[in-house]
Amino acid sequence: MRVLIIGGGFGGLFCARRLGGTDVDVTLLDRAAGHLFQPLLYQCATGTLSLGQISRPLREEFARHRNVTTLLGEAIDIHPQSRQLTARRPDETTFTLDYDVLVVAAGMQQSYFGKEHFAQWAPGMKTLDDALHIRQRVFTAFEIAETLPPGPERDGWLTFAVAGGGPTGVELAGQIREMATRTLAHEFHSIEPKDARVLLFDGGERVLKAFAPELGEKATKSLQKLGVELHMGVHVTDVGREGVTISPKAGGPDEQYTARTVLWTAGVEAVPFARHIAKVLGAESDRSGRIAVEKDLSVAGYPEIFVIGDLAGRDNLPGVAENAMQGGLHVASCIRRELAGKPRRPFRYRDLGSAAYIARRQALLQVGPIKVAGFFGWLAWGFVHIAFLTGVRNRFSTVTTWMTTIARESRSHRAFMLGATGLPDQHYTWTVWDALTPAPSEAPVDRDDG
Ligand SMILES: Cc1cc2nc3c(=O)[nH]c(=O)nc-3n(C[C@H](O)[C@H](O)[C@H](O)COP(=O)(O)OP(=O)(O)OC[C@H]3O[C@@H](n4cnc5c(N)ncnc54)[C@H](O)[C@@H]3O)c2cc1C
Repeated sequence: MRVLIIGGGFGGLFCARRLGGTDVDVTLLDRAAGHLFQPLLYQCATGTLSLGQISRPLREEFARHRNVTTLLGEAIDIHPQSRQLTARRPDETTFTLDYDVLVVAAGMQQSYFGKEHFAQWAPGMKTLDDALHIRQRVFTAFEIAETLPPGPERDGWLTFAVAGGGPTGVELAGQIREMATRTLAHEFHSIEPKDARVLLFDGGERVLKAFAPELGEKATKSLQKLGVELHMGVHVTDVGREGVTISPKAGGPDEQYTARTVLWTAGVEAVPFARHIAKVLGAESDRSGRIAVEKDLSVAGYPEIFVIGDLAGRDNLPGVAENAMQGGLHVASCIRRELAGKPRRPFRYRDLGSAAYIARRQALLQVGPIKVAGFFGWLAWGFVHIAFLTGVRNRFSTVTTWMTTIARESRSHRAFMLGATGLPDQHYTWTVWDALTPAPSEAPVDRDDG
C-alpha cells in the first residue's frame, strides 16, 4: 500500500512516525524541508532561538525508517480518479506521485481577510520566512531610530503595532517589550529602547479569548505591567507604510496610529492547495477553508483521502498542535487496522489543554479545571514545549539557550539579513516595498484570532 502524506507539520509528522517500520510505503511531501515547531516561532523572530532549534530536517527525522521517503515539493493538483498528485519543485518543474491512501495535512496560512495588500506592510507569523522577516523588521527599526533625531519620525520607528490578541499576538507583543526593556536596554546611545511603544489591537473585549476569563485577566495585567498598550474592541481596517487605521467596533471615528513596524497575527485560512482539493473533490468547506470530514476524518465519497490537523472541519476541532498530532496517529491507526482486516474507528479528540507564554517567568496553562498562571504556569509551559520539540538535540540546545537567556538577558540569535551588495536586483533592507502602492482600503473586516 502506498500512503502519500502532504505536509510534515504536526499531523503529517505523527502519522508518518506511526507508520514507520510497518508494511506500507510512505511518502511525506512538504514544501519545506523541515518540520517546523510553530509554537516557538516568535522566540525565533525575537532572537532567542535559532532556526535550527525550532525546525528539524524531515530527512534526518526519518533516516532510520526505510519505508518512509521524504520529498521536497509543493502539492499543486490532485487527480482523484487515477489517484495521482502533481507537485512542484522549487525550480518550478513538476512531478507526479501515485497513492492508494492520501493524507492531507497541509495546515493553514495567515489570513488578511481579503486585504492581501496588508501583507506588504504587516508580515504574519506562520513560517520560518515569516520569523526571519519579523526579526529583520524589528531589529532594523531600532537601528533606524538610533540614526534619527528626536521627533515624530523616530517615534514612528520606535512604535510596534501587533494586530490580534490571541496567543501569538500576546507572545510577540510581550517579547518585543521584554527585548526593549532588557536585551537592548543598554546597547544604544541616542535612543532609549525602553521607550519603544508596543500597541496590541484586538476586536474582542480581552486578550486570549480561548482561555478562562481569570487567566485572560492575569494575562492583561502582566502585559500592562510589561508596558504593552492594549486596544480592545477595535478592528484594524487599514495598514500602510506609516502605520495602522483603527475602527472601534462600538462605532465612533477611526483612529490612526503611526507605527513603522506592524505585525499581523489576526487570523488564519486554509493553504491554497486545500481550497483546490476541496473544489476538485466537491467537498464542503467553511469560511476559513477547513474541509468537512467524516467521523474517521476521511472526505465524504473518498474513503482513501483523509484530512487532518488544522484543515479538518468537524465538531469544531481546534487549530492546535494536539489535534493535529492525534489526527495523524488516528489515520495511521486506521491504515494499520485496515491492513489487519479490521474496521476503522471514529476519531475522538482529547483536549489536553492549552498554554500561552507572556514574558519571562510568566505563562498560562489551562488543562480542564486546572488553571495555572505566573511562575508555575511558566514552568509548566517550558516542560510542555520541551517535551514536544522534535529531536533530542533541539531539546537540549533549546533548554541551554533558555537558561542562558534567563541568566544573562541576552538573545544570541539576532542575526538578520538586509540584501547582498553584489546583486543589483537585491535591495538594501525592505525599502523596495515602499515603492509599491497599497490598494485602497475597503470595508472593515471581521476576524478570528490566530
Ligand atoms: C506562531 C504560532 C504559535 C502557535 N502556538 C501553539 C501553541 O502554543 N500550542 C498549540 O497547540 N498550537 C499552537 N499553534 C498551532 C499549531 O502550530 C497548529 O495547530 C499545528 O501546527 C497544525 O498542524 P498541521 O499538521 O495541521 O499543520 P502545520 O503544522 O501547519 O503543517 C503543515 C505543513 O504542510 C506544508 N504544506 C503546506 N502546503 C503544502 C503544499 N501545497 N504542499 C506540500 N506541503 C505543504 C507546510 O510546509 C507545513 O510543513 C501555533 C501556531 C502558530 C503559527
